[in-house]
Amino acid sequence: MDQQLIEYLFAHYSNLAPLEVVAKIKYPYLNEIEQLSEKRKIAEYLLENFESEIFINNCPNCKKLARTPKARQCRHCGHDWH
Ligand SMILES: [Zn+2]
Repeated sequence: MDQQLIEYLFAHYSNLAPLEVVAKIKYPYLNEIEQLSEKRKIAEYLLENFESEIFINNCPNCKKLARTPKARQCRHCGHDWH
């Protein structure tokens, strides 16, 4: 799973996960690498458990990940699918 997908899942779908799954990321003493590792675990958990509720919004043109699930314009190639 690439970093963009991890951040995307974490930003837009971590509310689906139970508190005990996302709680650890809030520990203030985690360093950056530990935070990334926790985000990855949460992202993997979300994909495993909520696949049907998660929309991976890939650009129809370049197939890269858009910024949000509702985005209609690609941040990579500028393609607009409104
Ligand atoms: Zn694109």
